[in-house]
Amino acid sequence: MADHIKNKVVIITGASSGMGKTAAKHLATLGATVVLGARRADKIEKLAKDIQNAGGKALAVAADVTKLDQVKHLVDTTVQQFGRVDVIINNAGIMPLSPMDRLNVEEWNSMIDVNIKGVLNGIAAVLPYMMEQKFGQIINTSSVAGHKIFNGSAVYSATKFAVRALTEGLRMEVKPYNIRTTIVCPGAVKTELLEHISEADIQRANQDYVAEVGISPDSFARVVAFAISQPEDVDINEVIFRPTAQEL
Ligand code: NDP
Repeated sequence: MADHIKNKVVIITGASSGMGKTAAKHLATLGATVVLGARRADKIEKLAKDIQNAGGKALAVAADVTKLDQVKHLVDTTVQQFGRVDVIINNAGIMPLSPMDRLNVEEWNSMIDVNIKGVLNGIAAVLPYMMEQKFGQIINTSSVAGHKIFNGSAVYSATKFAVRALTEGLRMEVKPYNIRTTIVCPGAVKTELLEHISEADIQRANQDYVAEVGISPDSFARVVAFAISQPEDVDINEVIFRPTAQEL
């Protein structure tokens, strides 16, 4: 597996916690150079140091994915330092679930900004480099909620359906440039994601559920490693994974 991962330059957004952090550590162990993006600079700088101390290669570049100039800076810095970008994992996301009749309009907008526009910003920042290189892989984190809708997930699901739609459209368009695209759809994974749900009852219900069935973020790390590890003529387009105990 490590053969096609070793020495690849992999940018990961949302690398300060949860699945992005775990994927960064795993890919670095497999020999990738990882570039860590997130807003909390202290967290990604510490992670970069930990990876370096363990013998890996890592760089932290703080970036808010809702700001195209910051995402461009993340990608430009990567190319300046390492000469190219092999993979971007557009993984940053938020999930402030709530029923629509509670009218948490600001949260709806934030989800659209981070989960959709953030992914688009990542694509816009890497595409010029990848088109020029004639190789690259764009991995976008959707969700089981990008296939299904559950109580309180209407807007979140809409953003994750959008991630699947735009990634599939991108897949078809970037054939001339030899670029691969992958959608990853996790089920319930134990991370910080539920901490930002503002509705106490919805948060409690989801925390109870994830505490019962949720799996480790290592699951995500193994899936992205699998997708990246394929030979260049194999394009893993979508992976859905769930806890074995998850019904939805
Ligand atoms: P976490 O809350 O642990 O991680 C979310 C990451 O996104 C953090 O690193 C956070 O960093 C980053 N982030 C949030 N907003 C921004 C922003 N504006 N700019 C840059 N980075 C941002 O959750 P997960 O690891 O669970 O989430 C990762 C992805 O997986 C998300 O897209 C989520 O929707 C998706 N997902 C999660 C599932 C789960 O069960 N956990 C299931 C299905 C999908 P910082 O705050 O430092 O900016």
